[in-house]
Amino acid sequence: MISNIRKMKIPFLSFQPMQESIREEMINSFTEVYDSAWYVLGKKVEAFEQEYASYNSVSHCVGVSNGLDALVISLKTLHIGVGDEVIVPSNTFIASVLAVTYVGATPVFVEPDEKTYNINPVSIDRAITSKTKAIIAVHLYGQACDMTAISRIAEKHRLFIIEDNAQAHGASFNNKITGSWGHINATSFYPGKNLGALGDAGAITTNDQALADQARVFRNYGSQKKYYNQEAGFNMRLDELQAAFLSVKLKHIDKWTRQRQEIAEWYRQLLMGTGDIILPFIHSESTHVYHLFVITTHKRDELMKFLSEGNIQTQIHYPVPPHLQDCYKYLGFSKGDFPIAEKLAETCLSLPLYPGMSRREVEFVADNIKRFFTNGF
Ligand SMILES: *Cc1c(COP(=O)(O)O)cnc(C)c1O
Repeated sequence: MISNIRKMKIPFLSFQPMQESIREEMINSFTEVYDSAWYVLGKKVEAFEQEYASYNSVSHCVGVSNGLDALVISLKTLHIGVGDEVIVPSNTFIASVLAVTYVGATPVFVEPDEKTYNINPVSIDRAITSKTKAIIAVHLYGQACDMTAISRIAEKHRLFIIEDNAQAHGASFNNKITGSWGHINATSFYPGKNLGALGDAGAITTNDQALADQARVFRNYGSQKKYYNQEAGFNMRLDELQAAFLSVKLKHIDKWTRQRQEIAEWYRQLLMGTGDIILPFIHSESTHVYHLFVITTHKRDELMKFLSEGNIQTQIHYPVPPHLQDCYKYLGFSKGDFPIAEKLAETCLSLPLYPGMSRREVEFVADNIKRFFTNGF
């Protein structure tokens, strides 16, 4: 038994249990697209857009090439660019910020709530200037932001809300699903996201017909009528093949989310009171779909090394906050400017979690973490 356990190897993420369970459906969907001989902007994209809009409780979904492009198009449809400020969390994946600088606007970083790690509405209020145009609300790690408070601030100051829902498919705040709150919202279907394609893919969701129409124009060279260009647009389209795969996977997402939540519950029970670990904190009105199960500890680097030596893969989301990245040196920030984000970057650790991960595997990870702390590291 013991020797058996010692041989266990836990990847940070495995697609295998998910992929195995839908193998035939996926291969059939490939065959359909292959035989249709239509590969860009066709029936599969249209079908997926309708299915995802319905899943996400919005009237419009526009399939695009990836999550970053979904954010870029969202900003373009709102006419945000040079001279405008956009509020972004100080502790997000770089893409949320890259989209802002890509359109020529200025990112204004706002610190997260110390418990939920999501953008703190109180701090948003203080960051607003006469140049502020929008707030990008990132539902980090899979937990919904406080959208009631953010919506109230946006309304008061007449700002747009763009949700970055790349990590939170199916999460909700006060029973309203993420991706349906903002004026226009972006999501990613990168393979490792909760709903993942077999390559790059993303989408925009909105209840505003005009914004949806404009997003369709931007994703396709800025053209509505072929060879007539009303905007200097992009080629940021979703492929038929990826759309077909996503339609299959969308049917299973709720089941996979429940598995993620069950695994998170196991971790929570097994790790409660271990060392100085802080477990994910859930806002009373939020649901968490556990794209990532992130703990914090002051012994983060030592714990990560210990687990790696025990064949358990972990990751850091994210080791360097955007304001300290080399690419943003020109913004003039330095260490100490956003202490909550910086502390999180130094202490956070994401544990292995994926649909199909077994109770035994979760116990193996938890046992090793306990062993690390009882051995007095
Ligand atoms: C993954 C991710 C993105 C970017 O999505 P891509 O499809 O990889 O471009 C944007 N924002 C957040 C929060 C993400 O996690």
